[in-house]
Amino acid sequence: MVELAAVGKEYPGGVTALADVDVGIARGELVGIVGPSGSGKSTMLNLIGTLDRPTSGTVRIDGHDVAAVSDRRLSALRARRIGFVFQQFHLAPGRSAWENVADGLLYAGFSPRERRRIARGTLERVGLGDRLDHLPHELSGGQRQRVAIARAVAGDPLLLLADEPTGNLDTASGRGVMALLRELHAAGTAVVVITHDLEIAASLPRRITMRDGRVET
Ligand code: ADP
Ligand code: MG
Repeated sequence: MVELAAVGKEYPGGVTALADVDVGIARGELVGIVGPSGSGKSTMLNLIGTLDRPTSGTVRIDGHDVAAVSDRRLSALRARRIGFVFQQFHLAPGRSAWENVADGLLYAGFSPRERRRIARGTLERVGLGDRLDHLPHELSGGQRQRVAIARAVAGDPLLLLADEPTGNLDTASGRGVMALLRELHAAGTAVVVITHDLEIAASLPRRITMRDGRVET
């Protein structure tokens, strides 16, 4: 479903963030990306998520060559098939849990009523059925990350990308978030998760190890 072939990424100023990366990810896989800070993990995730384009090589998502489609089609592809979760949650502060999730569906073609119904159902699925009307500052870190995950999966993406989702959480909340990602994977979503946590990494069925912008084999 995801194919990176001879991918390189250079940032302005001559930083080579990725060099000659070949990676394939199948439908429904659960994969960890590990490696030291600065090794290119986030850059790789952003390329997989079509948030950025490679400087060289090819990125294919669900058969589409990212270089060959327009920005508009790429946005549509991303909106329909890919969900994102970040370390910092990125919830809108003045919006309730269900509104944050519903807002994530704004461009998916649902009516306001449907958005509300899906948002509530998805929050129930992540164990927050009793926190629908809470604002982000009224939730714990683990609960905020669950809201962010609900927002990412409400549109039923094929692929969920998580960049250090447990990085701001205590161990117990981090475990809860990982358990949730595993459940989503078991239900058929491909999940790619960047983690610093060696215990979490060791528990995943597959790991991609990065070093200096290359995949270690
Ligand atoms: P990781 O997520 O493994 O910590 P990154 O993918 O964020 O690594 O970064 C890889 C390299 O690219 C680092 O040297 C970083 O400083 C550099 N880099 C990342 N983003 C940018 C950017 N927007 N502009 C310039 N350099 C960047
Ligand atoms: Mg990073």
